[in-house]
Amino acid sequence: MISKQFDKETFKESVKSNVRSLYRKTIDEATPQQIFQAVSYAVKDVIIDNWLKSQKQFDKEDPKIVYYLSMEFLMGRALGNNLLNLTAYGEVKEALEELGFDLNAIEDEEPDPALGNGGLGRLAACFLDSLATLGYCAYGCGIRYHYGMFKQEIKDGYQIEVPDAWLKDGYPFELRRPEYAKEVKFGGHVRVVYDPSTGRNEFVQEDYQSVRAIPYDLPIVGYNNQIVNTLRIWDSEAINDFQLDSFDKGDYRKAVEQENLARNIVEVLYPNDNHYAGKELRLKQQYFFISASIQAAVEKFKKKHGDIHELPSKVTFQLNDTHPTVTVAELMRILVDEEKLSWEDAWDITTRTCAYTNHTIMAEALEKWPIELFSRLLPRIYQIVEEINRRFLIQIQQMYPGNQEKIKKMAIIYDGQVKMAHLAIAGSYSVNGVARLHTEILKNKELKDFYEMMPQKFNNKTNGITQRRFLLHGNPLLADWVTKHIGRDWITDLSQISKLKIYADDEKAQQEFMNIKYQNKLRLAKYIQEHNGIEVDPRSIFDVQVKRLHEYKRQLLNILHVMYLYNKMKEHPELDFYPRTFIFGAKASAGYHRAKLIIKLINSVADVVNNDASIKGKLKVVFIENYRVSNAEIIFAAADVSEQISTASKEASGTGNMKFMLNGALTIGTMDGANVEIVEEVGADNAFIFGLSSDEVINFEQNGGYDPNFYFNTDPDIRNVLMQLINGTFSPKDPERFRDLYNSLLNTKSSDKPDTYFTLADFKSYAKAQEQVEAAYRDQRGWAKSAILNTASSGKFSSDRTIQEYVDEIWHLDKVVVED
Ligand code: PLP
Repeated sequence: MISKQFDKETFKESVKSNVRSLYRKTIDEATPQQIFQAVSYAVKDVIIDNWLKSQKQFDKEDPKIVYYLSMEFLMGRALGNNLLNLTAYGEVKEALEELGFDLNAIEDEEPDPALGNGGLGRLAACFLDSLATLGYCAYGCGIRYHYGMFKQEIKDGYQIEVPDAWLKDGYPFELRRPEYAKEVKFGGHVRVVYDPSTGRNEFVQEDYQSVRAIPYDLPIVGYNNQIVNTLRIWDSEAINDFQLDSFDKGDYRKAVEQENLARNIVEVLYPNDNHYAGKELRLKQQYFFISASIQAAVEKFKKKHGDIHELPSKVTFQLNDTHPTVTVAELMRILVDEEKLSWEDAWDITTRTCAYTNHTIMAEALEKWPIELFSRLLPRIYQIVEEINRRFLIQIQQMYPGNQEKIKKMAIIYDGQVKMAHLAIAGSYSVNGVARLHTEILKNKELKDFYEMMPQKFNNKTNGITQRRFLLHGNPLLADWVTKHIGRDWITDLSQISKLKIYADDEKAQQEFMNIKYQNKLRLAKYIQEHNGIEVDPRSIFDVQVKRLHEYKRQLLNILHVMYLYNKMKEHPELDFYPRTFIFGAKASAGYHRAKLIIKLINSVADVVNNDASIKGKLKVVFIENYRVSNAEIIFAAADVSEQISTASKEASGTGNMKFMLNGALTIGTMDGANVEIVEEVGADNAFIFGLSSDEVINFEQNGGYDPNFYFNTDPDIRNVLMQLINGTFSPKDPERFRDLYNSLLNTKSSDKPDTYFTLADFKSYAKAQEQVEAAYRDQRGWAKSAILNTASSGKFSSDRTIQEYVDEIWHLDKVVVED
């Protein structure tokens, strides 16, 4: 259905008039960036009508609202996605062609709003798309980082980080809303004042610094339903001009400090994925956006409702990982200090309003703030956390009298640290993991004590992805093919895609499917040629690992295996290898040296392998620079093989794995995260599973017994590959360059623990699984069948399904319909 509110001629006029009024140019004179801006403003005009209509409907129906609180929203480009969800993509494409422009080229002018690191931030973006599409009233709340995730350049094989000034040309889809500004206070001290008239102590924060939080709203367009929700990201401004009380008047030092605070707080996204760095500014960012968001949410609630006790029936705050956990204490502060509720009432409301999603079990990712830092920065919030802790410990003692071990393991404040996960669990009515295996590990191991004490809070919500961006937009050829076979319903109900199963054995369907894959491989090959200057063979197997660079994700295992294959080719030129292109894409956190060295290794192997004429181009290695949402769409569409090879138990869910599956790639992976459920859906015959199980990994971790030297000493292939890390095969000018990686894999003097990612334990079973991949690919019909079955079995992994489960089991939202 073509958009009702869209008129092609009006749209063309709107683009022309935007170019004129924004830039004083005609469309012939405008730059491509200016055309992008003008088109986007014209689209925003259409969106605004629906945005207003949605708000009106929400006002009328007063549905329950979920606030999805997240430090990260990895939105990707908006223009194309908005057009698709408005069902106006085709018409706008035509309109622009009539004006002499190519919509794809215009889309490429949009900066990629990269306000997130990876999976967690992208999940938040998929959830917003699904919430709007399913007709639920939801706000995303986050930070308007001036610099999002850095741009990655590869120079001499090394990663270089370049600042991403995504706002430099202005971002057309955002709307500044100064009328909703909020003050956020830091530091100072708390004075306790007894008020005889109420008999209560009042807590007054004094001598603080504050900033003004200014919201910018971005529209979240539902698919074909006229619903537009809001992603509200907060910017900060100095507050000097009006907030200083008489005591502070003329305090120049303080004015400058406040100005600096305001400037720094939203400057940059911390580029750590699954890693806690403990930086003071990060805690400031957390409290900044949470305080502003919770203040705004309570204010909005109070406009419609007289009784604050009703809050839990109208609002849920969903915490995306522990980063927004100060929500629990901030809501308590508002309820106790401002709404003057009793502690018990406030706690009852808070613990029926907050819900927490756990995203990782890795120790290095758990947030623990030193109490000195926490109390200095957030003195009132710290007092509240202390009181929450005091009462929580009493509860633990009542349940487990005299058990000090429980206190040690579960306290919110212990050993001089505030443990954010413990605060989140104590303050929430729901605690969920993000894949079945992950939730089981939480319940049985990581959070066992909490689960035993409050089992009713724990539940699983397996992650999902939006098929609208990652199939409809990212892979239009396959999307059309799917629609041709089963109709359009899959766009809003991905379970329908299972209807494709009947085509898995159909020779014509198989050929068409593989031809589409081939076209997508050509598109990616062109991208690689343009961006990397490397020619790849689109008939080779495209074997892809794209995700953040992290030791637990084991890009190192992948590249070691490439080295092993290369050695085999050199040793046995007579053997018949099926041509393979190994494609990597990954950003490493700027301070993560080992991860950066792995990038250098991948590029060094690429240099040698790609330039060795003796292997006749049968093996190519490509590192795609600056992996991000926009090129991810092209990459998923073109993949034959999806590398999901994390150490079992370490990847909470993964969502890249689902995007590959949706696009018909076959998974080679460990039984980790959502891979378990992917294999369950598609069947073990249509995936390549290898490696230690999570139980085996956990057993090694608890009882020891992993000896990498065993593999080194007994397996010549492994030894050979490892020796190549230190003999200059891939680094002739500096043979020691990869010594740290060598050490990390073995139990050597310089690393006290053997490789905690068990790389060598899994090496041979990985190599064997890769042999099976090659054998399977040689049977083109068999491969096509498996590929179709992967797409056809991906229905469960729609974020629409995930969101409906959150709604049914945690949020209990009301569906809203916006009429014409
Ligand atoms: N980064 C980007 C740009 C993505 O699109 C995805 C996909 O979900 C991720 C990171 C997360 O990937 P993975 O789940 O493989 O870690």
